[in-house]
Amino acid sequence: MQGLSGDRVAAWLERAADVLEREKMYLTELDAAIGDSDHGINMARGFTAVRARLGGLDRGDVGALLKEVGMILLSTVGGASGPLYGTLFREAGLRAAGAGELDLAALASCLEAGLDGVKRRGKASPGDKTMVDALGPAVDALKAALLEPPAAAAGQAPPPSGADGRVSLAEALARAAEAARAGAEATVPLVARKGRASYLGERSAGHQDPGATSCWLLLRSLAATADA
Ligand code: ADP
Ligand code: MG
Repeated sequence: MQGLSGDRVAAWLERAADVLEREKMYLTELDAAIGDSDHGINMARGFTAVRARLGGLDRGDVGALLKEVGMILLSTVGGASGPLYGTLFREAGLRAAGAGELDLAALASCLEAGLDGVKRRGKASPGDKTMVDALGPAVDALKAALLEPPAAAAGQAPPPSGADGRVSLAEALARAAEAARAGAEATVPLVARKGRASYLGERSAGHQDPGATSCWLLLRSLAATADA
């Protein structure tokens, strides 16, 4: 795969809708422990709405497509996570405006813009036990993959890099998904400082954050689409 085209993004969103529908109860159980038991339902509703509207969306401009998805999520997910996921996709879309496809550098920049938007809107920092704790490490992994010297220059065997010896987009996305998984799992011992879970104070420790977990599922779906 070269870059992430509008068709690939659409394939990702379809896969994400399937995954979130399948994992709806899991996410809702996580939210039952430290929130109000709706995160899985919220996310499945939002991405089902995105899937229903995908056919009518222009895929020629990846930025415009991501922005539209942000608007749909904003109006359908609800809860605290709706505006935050809406912001993530909207800000990523604004950064990618006019792009026919995204290479690794563009995707890293786009997701970083989304992360910055989420942090601005939700005022969460790393370690606050939110989706930022999965998204942040994923963005870091993409940026690190981008900066990694070509395998040949580092005296390593070429795979899993692209033809030019640099880390391929698919490999970088696999690493980003893995970083998000580790980030989501690392929220377990944390005490929540933002959102509904923060009302529990110390009692929020010992549970995995639902939003960080859905963020990981989205990135795992993206990596699987890039690899397909
Ligand atoms: P609600 O908490 O309103 O019921 P959801 O259950 O859909 O909304 O989403 C909860 C998730 O939203 C949390 O697990 C957390 O990851 C994320 N979240 C909540 N508040 C913030 C915030 N201020 N910044 C970033 N993420 C947040
Ligand atoms: Mg909730």
